[in-house]
Amino acid sequence: MANQDTARLQQLDRDHYLHPFTDFKSLGEEGSRVVTRAEGVYIYDSEGNRILDGMAGLWCVNIGYGRKELVEAATSQLEQLPYYNSFFKTTHPPAVALAEKLCQLAPAHMNRVFFTGSGSEANDTVLRMVRRYWTIKGKPEKQWVIGRKNGYHGSTVAGMSLGGMAPMHEQGGPCVPGITHIRQPYWFGEGRDMSQDTFGRECAAALEERILELGEENVAAFIAEPVQGAGGAIMPPESYWPAVKEVLAKYDILLVVDEVICGFGRLGEWFGSQHYDLEPDLMPIAKGLSSGYLPIGGVLVGDRVADTLINEGGEFFHGFTYSGHPACAAVALRNLELLEAEGIVDRVRDDLGPYLAKRWASLADHPLVGEARSLGLMGALELVADQQTGERFDESLAAGNLCRDLCFDNGLVMRSVGDTMLISPALVITREEIDELIGLTRQALDETARRLIRWQPA
Ligand code: PMP
Repeated sequence: MANQDTARLQQLDRDHYLHPFTDFKSLGEEGSRVVTRAEGVYIYDSEGNRILDGMAGLWCVNIGYGRKELVEAATSQLEQLPYYNSFFKTTHPPAVALAEKLCQLAPAHMNRVFFTGSGSEANDTVLRMVRRYWTIKGKPEKQWVIGRKNGYHGSTVAGMSLGGMAPMHEQGGPCVPGITHIRQPYWFGEGRDMSQDTFGRECAAALEERILELGEENVAAFIAEPVQGAGGAIMPPESYWPAVKEVLAKYDILLVVDEVICGFGRLGEWFGSQHYDLEPDLMPIAKGLSSGYLPIGGVLVGDRVADTLINEGGEFFHGFTYSGHPACAAVALRNLELLEAEGIVDRVRDDLGPYLAKRWASLADHPLVGEARSLGLMGALELVADQQTGERFDESLAAGNLCRDLCFDNGLVMRSVGDTMLISPALVITREEIDELIGLTRQALDETARRLIRWQPA
């Protein structure tokens, strides 16, 4: 595409398109990058630049770009039955087949799924189901849901209320009542004055304290991501989940594990719950379910909740026009079949995850890096002004955004959350492509250091 076309698209974009999670005015001043096509782990912009997509879109293109099988699944389903709903006692083959496949892959006690159009809608569904469950059980006062500060569960009103993103609450409040947030298990950011082990236990103890403050009889559920994604690829200390499980075992409270990012292989298991040995009552899913090719989400429901809703609940007044959309379901099913047939999830666990871990850890010697952590194919770098003390850069320097922009200019998509740099590449990335990703990251770190601390490589 010629320069002129890029300029024209940028102008139309500025004139008419309000982007998600964007400062509209400053984007208008800078102009958008126009992405026109993609293949494998690479995206291409309108100027012909090839860019390694270290984020798999928005943590979702697990199977990589350009899979013809998914195009074929969409096309043939659109020809056969482009749309029908599953309200009013109807169903259709792709939604049934996808439901069956999902329940095969999920932990053994999860045998039902409710479909939605996105991860946010999945979490709206979670809130409706959790409250409905306790009402059916004759405990309507069990209404409180405990989430975590800096957790992310979507951008609808219920999603942002369940999440603990302060800037979203400030713009979107008042939030849905009956939701409260406890501290997050973010050791680098909040716990370095103690061991990881102690910190993990303290964060789990905060859950018990909140349950006791609210009264067990008033608490419906605890919701958390296995590894916080949008909050900064925060892997909790090893002691955290076992201690949370101990707390939950003492009280009659549902566990909701938000698998929107961790699901479908990101951590080297089908679900993050399997990595951490969790038994969730509800699992919201989306993103990697269709590898982002078409929009679809859902909630996997454990037997305890499903049996109650089915046998004792009567009509559940909830659902979406696109719940179980035939073309989206057909693409998701094909995507899961390919992930399984090609052994992609096992490869993340046995080969690519450990390889990335080794290569990623090698970045820890860079003077800007306070911590380099990864699990499966998710990683984070903490940028610091002083490696010894872990002191951060002044906020006004926007070090993370600078590093992200330098990455992009240099042919790599990384995301920044404050001064934490994130990666979450497609699960089909090769070892060679991981090497390339590491090399590009180091170059961007060097350039960021040059700009921020006038540093020169030795
Ligand atoms: N939950 C988690 C853990 C997420 O990361 C996201 C999206 N980043 C959502 C829910 C919301 O999903 P969606 O953007 O599809 O509504």
